Amino acid sequence: MTGRSLRPWLVVALAAGMTAATCTSSSSTSPSPRRALSVVATTTVFADLVARVGGERVAVSSLVPMGGEVHTFDPSPSKAAKVAQADVVVMNGLGLDDWLRRLVADSGARATVLVLAEELPGAEYLGGEAGEEVNPHLWLDASYAVGYVARIRDALTTADPPGAATYRANAEAYAGELRALDRWARATLAAIPADARRIIAFHDALPYFARAYALEVVGVILPAPGQDPSAGYVGALVDEIRRSGVRLIVSEVQFSPALARTIAAETGATLVSDLYSDTLGDPPVDSYTGLLRWDVERIAAALR
Ligand SMILES: [Zn+2]
Repeated sequence: MTGRSLRPWLVVALAAGMTAATCTSSSSTSPSPRRALSVVATTTVFADLVARVGGERVAVSSLVPMGGEVHTFDPSPSKAAKVAQADVVVMNGLGLDDWLRRLVADSGARATVLVLAEELPGAEYLGGEAGEEVNPHLWLDASYAVGYVARIRDALTTADPPGAATYRANAEAYAGELRALDRWARATLAAIPADARRIIAFHDALPYFARAYALEVVGVILPAPGQDPSAGYVGALVDEIRRSGVRLIVSEVQFSPALARTIAAETGATLVSDLYSDTLGDPPVDSYTGLLRWDVERIAAALR
């Protein structure tokens, strides 16, 4: 990708920005429609958090499509054009979606880049997947999603100061919903006997979820997204499942369930292959709250 091939898009983006500025100054005295703040997020999960805080003031889209795999995502040139035109770009950081930093640099984007998970106030970080010092999946603990929401509120307010009151009210209401969801998830899984609350995860998405909701992740099938585990690794995992007596393997929609199915058949463990972690799906999993509720209910039903 070269800067030259993107120049026409930049011209369009700049022209659009100038038009918007003109509209904004005239809209203070007339009811002409205000241009929505343009926000691009790396995943459908973060796009949903932005939509809840931004409401009608914000037009948000996701770079990774619904059902896509964020860790190994390879953005097409059309994604660079989208980023070049955005006012705010939202990513997780911690190695989950670092391809966005290159995309922003290559596209010449002037957008504010909001990184949700790095140095999150109050967060206690857990060890990472292969190649990552810190595990990036903080949002699967709903109390950390509240921290993401506060950061989104602040970034939208900086980019669109007249929306401050709207963003504050939306974020406060949504945070209340997330705290209630967090309490419900804790209570639902606490009803399962402690020695049954153990799982094998497909990729290492669940350490924060497990810590928050009192589960133990005994092992992961895919130690590094984008790399198939070796036969030796899978053999050792099968031994560990048999030795420890873990009854449940969970896998996620963005991965093929073939390997998890084989391991479940070999060990006699139950397989739940439709959990959601890094992407949203069709209703009722078309929101972050729907995703968390779904995962908790699927796991609780399988462990009961
Ligand atoms: Zn992941």
